Amino acid sequence: MASKKFACSSIRVESFLLILFCSVLVACGSRSDDTSADQKHAGGVDQITYTWKLVTTWPKNLPALGTAPVRFADRVRVMSGGRLNIKVYAAGELVPAFGVFDAVSQGNAQMGHGAAYYWRGKIPVAAMFATVPFGFLPQEMNAWLHFGGGLDLWREAYAPFNLRPMTGGNSGMQMAGWFNREINSLADIQGLKMRIPGLGGEVFQRAGGIAVATPGSEVFTALQTGVIDATEWVGPYNDMALGLHTIGKYYYYPGWHEPGSALEAIVNIDAWESLPEDLQVILEVANQAMNQEMLDEFTARNASALHSLVEEHNVELRKLPDDVLQEFRAIAEDVVRENAQGDELSRRIYQSYIDFRKSTLRWYDISDKAYAEVR
Ligand code: CA
Repeated sequence: MASKKFACSSIRVESFLLILFCSVLVACGSRSDDTSADQKHAGGVDQITYTWKLVTTWPKNLPALGTAPVRFADRVRVMSGGRLNIKVYAAGELVPAFGVFDAVSQGNAQMGHGAAYYWRGKIPVAAMFATVPFGFLPQEMNAWLHFGGGLDLWREAYAPFNLRPMTGGNSGMQMAGWFNREINSLADIQGLKMRIPGLGGEVFQRAGGIAVATPGSEVFTALQTGVIDATEWVGPYNDMALGLHTIGKYYYYPGWHEPGSALEAIVNIDAWESLPEDLQVILEVANQAMNQEMLDEFTARNASALHSLVEEHNVELRKLPDDVLQEFRAIAEDVVRENAQGDELSRRIYQSYIDFRKSTLRWYDISDKAYAEVR
């Protein structure tokens, strides 16, 4: 069906019979129910207009994470001359935050925006495509995905779910989070209830804490009401937007559990294959723009938000003790390896990641790291 659809949309229709043929194919509902595709004459050339839904895991208008997909959709509409119109839905508007993967997989929405570690319950190794505790920095992650084979492996992992992932941004280095208890040693982690997702949550759990997964929209209330003792969210820019500085006592760093989380834009494969090649390229390029631009935005805004938090809101910054970080790091090695032992593909993904890390660390040591130590 996909090839018929593709042929239909790319053919320059020159006769009434061909128009009729294509119209019948469209009318047959060969696209998912939510893809509206209208065929029109435009300057003598037949064009199909696609109307898509993009569901996200983010609260409405959340800076960067929530606003980037909206900007992406605007650009796709303009670049496609109005042929691909994508309507963006915040978490809960169409499906709940953690319902995004299924909604796109089943074709109830054509696209989704979120983070791969949210889907660990379905694909344990998926977390490696978001972030790994003590793993890649943002630019190293981009390098592995785009020039180190990572994205191909990611697509292989998502294909059975009828999904095609693309990189959809990066949060930059995160903060360890807001704690309403002082952390002076590993003893202070024992029994501490913290919102911390992904593999970082698993590490935290093994270190004696209690890790919970709370959607962004519920984080503030959970910390405020004492349901949790601590929460990580993103970094100064996003944390301030959620108002976490008004209820969190200590703001700890560094973000050992998320040293730069890659976001994902997922596309339903049937919807993807229904697009003509030029719209596929537009989608990919707009996505690459979103990917880089989000990191740029976080880097700039985290810096200014940190200034505001410290100077205007008297937020108390704390560094996690070295022995706590070292323990997290030791546990993380086991967690990441064990998490990727499920099947042959998981082991390949893990090996690719480890090999790339080895190679990139050697370069990092004599480039960014050596420079950071002296600048
Ligand atoms: Ca986070």
